[in-house]
Amino acid sequence: MAICGTRFRLFPQASFAAAQVAPETVLIATPAGQVRPGPADHRAYTVYPIGKRHPYGISMDRKDTTLSLPPWHGPINLPALPDAEGHFDYLRMGTEQFEMAHLFGTVRFVIDVWENYFQRPIRWQFERDFPRLELSILPSLQNAYAGYGFIEVGGHGKGESFVPYSLNFDVIAHEVGHAIIYSELGVPDPEAATGEYFGFHESAADLVALISSLHFNSVVDDLLLTTRGNLYTL
Ligand SMILES: [Zn+2]
Repeated sequence: MAICGTRFRLFPQASFAAAQVAPETVLIATPAGQVRPGPADHRAYTVYPIGKRHPYGISMDRKDTTLSLPPWHGPINLPALPDAEGHFDYLRMGTEQFEMAHLFGTVRFVIDVWENYFQRPIRWQFERDFPRLELSILPSLQNAYAGYGFIEVGGHGKGESFVPYSLNFDVIAHEVGHAIIYSELGVPDPEAATGEYFGFHESAADLVALISSLHFNSVVDDLLLTTRGNLYTL
């Protein structure tokens, strides 16, 4: 059988946390040629806005509460383009386009992993309003959020030491985890949601990230070497 997915290069673990920092080539399920500039496909599209001042979601400014949702209509950095065969693994590290491809590739990789476990598509909880998930890079955001129709990622640190979350598999996969929980379990009544519910959400998102990262053989090898196979050790 011909392998017909689209190639991306992903860092299995954050470059500041792992000894081996080389990105690995993975295939996502969307066939080569069907991932468009962005990258974008039928489930998600990527933008790197220019001049975006606030993250998506609810912001409370003194008295005003405003809700900001995608799509971003303002100017954007040049999208990542596929090569002649439709792949994105040729992009050079250190470019905005590599960051965009890494963000998109990670989200689609994690969705592939979990749709394989579910043995069916995982539909977005927001599909009534937004057919696709917007993936937005906002460096001024010292966090990452999954919300209604979007995953938005910032980073931490300043200047030379800034670490973008667009290159952090763990952070991105965690946010996809939140999106999966919303899709599968719905959204709670804000009046009724308890602290335990939010704790569940964070731990479930972490488990989605953790299990997804075990789909890299290099991570499994590293884990087994480090623990000598004793996973019960600290
Ligand atoms: Zn979280």
